[in-house]
Amino acid sequence: MAYTIVLDAGHGGYDNGAIYEGRLEKDDNLDLTLAIGEVLAYNGFDVIFTRVDDVYLSPVERAQIANAEDADLFVSIHRNSGPTPNEYNGVQTLIYDEGGLKQEIAENVNERLESLGFTNLGIDIRNQLAVLRRTDSPAILIEVGFINSDEDNVLFDERFTDIAYEIASGISDGFETEGTMPTQPMRQAQPMQPTQPMQPTQPMQPTQPAQPMRPTQPMRPTQPMQPTQPAQPMRPTQPMRPTQPMQPTQPMQPTQPMQPTQPMRPTQPMEPTQPMEPTQPMEPTQPMQPAQPMQPTQPMRPTQPMPANDSPVYRIQVGLFRTPSNATNLQYYMSRLGYTVDVVPQGELYAVQVGRLPSIERAQEIERALKLQGFDTLIVRE
Ligand SMILES: [Zn+2]
Repeated sequence: MAYTIVLDAGHGGYDNGAIYEGRLEKDDNLDLTLAIGEVLAYNGFDVIFTRVDDVYLSPVERAQIANAEDADLFVSIHRNSGPTPNEYNGVQTLIYDEGGLKQEIAENVNERLESLGFTNLGIDIRNQLAVLRRTDSPAILIEVGFINSDEDNVLFDERFTDIAYEIASGISDGFETEGTMPTQPMRQAQPMQPTQPMQPTQPMQPTQPAQPMRPTQPMRPTQPMQPTQPAQPMRPTQPMRPTQPMQPTQPMQPTQPMQPTQPMRPTQPMEPTQPMEPTQPMEPTQPMQPAQPMQPTQPMRPTQPMPANDSPVYRIQVGLFRTPSNATNLQYYMSRLGYTVDVVPQGELYAVQVGRLPSIERAQEIERALKLQGFDTLIVRE
């Protein structure tokens, strides 16, 4: 049984992340995430991507994917941004709290990226991020340099393949030394460390001599090789041999990077659950309010008493759309979360509103639950 790694390319869709001189964080994140996934998949890990296209997912959705897949590790890829261009540079990895596999892997990744020339800004504890807080598995968020640092961008572009390899190796190393994980031999770690001798106690498994493709993610069969780039190194059918590997010292081939923007049709669901519109930003990077104790698991009850006709009724608006299908998508998604949701036409727009609540207190209670789930909310009164 291979380890399942859920790789999460930060931001996406209308959420560009940080922007610097036309460079969008969401694109860097996706490119690198897919490259890391190829290395991991080739080396025997089961790799799941939260997104493989330019689509928006809420932080909670990303965590839910990892939980549904029973991930052994969740890795979110981001790029940092400072208030002033070229003020800061370096890599930093965020974890929910100290200790365990996540901290070990975070340290591995930081050190390995430092070896490529990045400044190592260390580990930061972030207990408010939904992707770290809501994931059942160990989770890390890697800020792979600052997108508004020219120095970091040069490293990102010129050492792109090495960065993917080093992050994958840092992950693999963590599983190799983690004592509490299943005892499957980490055969995948061997080809990823060509400079280290084979460990005699971890022989290659004869029944799995070739690095298995993840069966549910068959490496984009519908989009085979680009004929103009036949020698791409990251193809799972040929790369990462111990004898011709991704040595950090090996000169990079910046002119033939991964084909990041079109691979890996995922088998994961979440298609209907990307309903949010650019007109309704959801603050994906900091949705969780840690001090709010509400549990979001029992929001609306159909048995709720309806208010008298002359009493005010409150609803919680969670979206406002121009396109009706986007509103109904969100309605569908929220109904799956257990909410009673209506689409309310408002002029040319369509509001998605939760509940008919008899009191402002009750509305605030539900609103807290919604905020905990990453929604931007607005209480409205009928
Ligand atoms: Zn980001």
